[in-house]
Amino acid sequence: MRSQQLMRWYKTLLAAFGPQHWWPAKTAEEVIIGAILTQNTAWKNVEQAIAALRGAGALHFKAIAALDTETLVELIRPARFMNLKARALQSFARFFGERYGYSIRRMKQKPTDELRKELLSLYRIGPETADSILLYALEKPVFVIDVYTKRIMSRHGFLSMGHSYEDFQALFMENLSADVQLYNEFHALLVHLGNRLCRPKPLCDQCPLRGIA
Ligand code: SF4
Repeated sequence: MRSQQLMRWYKTLLAAFGPQHWWPAKTAEEVIIGAILTQNTAWKNVEQAIAALRGAGALHFKAIAALDTETLVELIRPARFMNLKARALQSFARFFGERYGYSIRRMKQKPTDELRKELLSLYRIGPETADSILLYALEKPVFVIDVYTKRIMSRHGFLSMGHSYEDFQALFMENLSADVQLYNEFHALLVHLGNRLCRPKPLCDQCPLRGIA
C-alpha cells in the first residue's frame, strides 16, 4: 500500500519535473565536498566556492589536505560558515587519506552500515550529509532525508514533523526496493518540489501531487 503510493508519487513527480540529474558534480570527491559545503547554505553559494577550489586545483581531498587553513577558508568563503566548513573538509581529508589512501574505490568496498558509522563520527557530518555522501558519491542504496522531505511527507499525513530522521528514512527504505537510481532521483525530485512549491506557504494549486492519494 505505502509502497504503491510512494511509487505513484515518484512517477508523478518525474513526469512533472523530469530527471534532476543529481548530483551536479564531475567526481565523487566533488560530491563529498559539495555535500559538506551545502550545509545551511544555498547551492548557488556553494557553486562559487567549488569554482574557487577548482581554480586553485583543490577540488579533491589530497589537495585540500595540503592547503593551509587560511587559504582554504578564503577559497570556500562564498559557502558561508567557512571556518567550520574548512575544519570539516580537513577532517574528512585526514580520514579519507589515512583510512582509504584517498581511494573512492576502496571506500566503496566497505559495507554500508560500517561506512555510515565512520562518516557520522567525523566533524560536522550528520545523517543528511553522511547519507548524501553514501548515495551520491559512493552509490550506496541509502535514502536521504532533508527538511523538504519531512515537510512534504508530514503534510500528507505519513509522519508528523516530530518524528526522527531515521523514522522518515525507514518510511522510504522499508517501502521501496534498494535501488540507487530510484533513491537518487526521488530525493532530488522531493527537494525540487519542496523548493518550488511545498514551501512554508504551500502552492498546492500548482502542485502535481495535489489530489494524488
Ligand atoms: S504543495 Fe500542497 S499538494 Fe504539493 S506536496 Fe505540498 S502540501 Fe502536498
